[in-house]
Amino acid sequence: AGAIAFRDVHFAYDANRPILKGLSFEVPAGKTVAIVGPSGAGKSTISRLLYRFYDIQQGEILIDGQDIRQVTQKSLRNAIGMVPQDTVLFNDTIAYNLRYGRLDATDRDVEAAAEIAQIGTFIRNLPDGFRTMVGERGLKLSGGEKQRVAIARTILKAPPILILDEATSALDTTTEREIQAALDVVSKNRTTLVIAHRLSTVINADEIIVVKDGTIAERGTHQALLATD
Ligand code: ADP
Ligand code: ADP
Repeated sequence: AGAIAFRDVHFAYDANRPILKGLSFEVPAGKTVAIVGPSGAGKSTISRLLYRFYDIQQGEILIDGQDIRQVTQKSLRNAIGMVPQDTVLFNDTIAYNLRYGRLDATDRDVEAAAEIAQIGTFIRNLPDGFRTMVGERGLKLSGGEKQRVAIARTILKAPPILILDEATSALDTTTEREIQAALDVVSKNRTTLVIAHRLSTVINADEIIVVKDGTIAERGTHQALLATD
């Protein structure tokens, strides 16, 4: 489930400055497609359109063949999970930060997701910057640990569609490799849209789409695109 199709999508935040000019691509159910392109190309815009934070001016966006304008906001949000570049945690325990994606999760579900994402040891803590009522400080999490929290949240929510928006770009190389490995596990057999600005970070995608000036400049496998470079 969760097949995505963009068909001739036109979008502009301001009428006189088009961002997407007739973009068409598909992410078959369970596959991974990467959107690559320079900063400002409209990559994050694609994920915002999928959430329907904005409506497109022309074309259609389909999930499992259904126009997303015919789907409620609630079911759209339930269908899509996102691991952003920087995960923002709110003032509650890490465990509750995980549960936020799925309020009916049991403690057992939360613990199981935390275990898989390897954050099991600190889910009872508050995040950094917050204090308990008795004045204990929250835990300072590294960038990699925060991404693990985002991954655990996604495991718990188990959405059919996953968006990875520059999910490893704020990490150092060693941590990036570790988090990428964890993301590969979560995205396996799940419809996944990866947003990245470098080709080198999306080696495992089934297809890579290079977006420039609002349309597709190139597309293919990682190997094929490297060969044309
Ligand atoms: P990318 O993710 O490829 O770096 P974005 O999708 O974030 O690009 O942005 C594409 C373009 O749209 C950029 O020029 C950006 O400045 C512009 N943009 C993004 N968000 C808004 C907004 N809310 N209002 C107006 N312009 C925006
Ligand atoms: P940018 O870095 O391009 O300025 P952000 O990464 O802050 O933009 O967010 C991209 C868009 O995705 C924003 O509109 C934001 O509200 C939305 N967003 C980010 N994380 C989530 C999430 N977990 N669930 C739903 N929407 C999200």
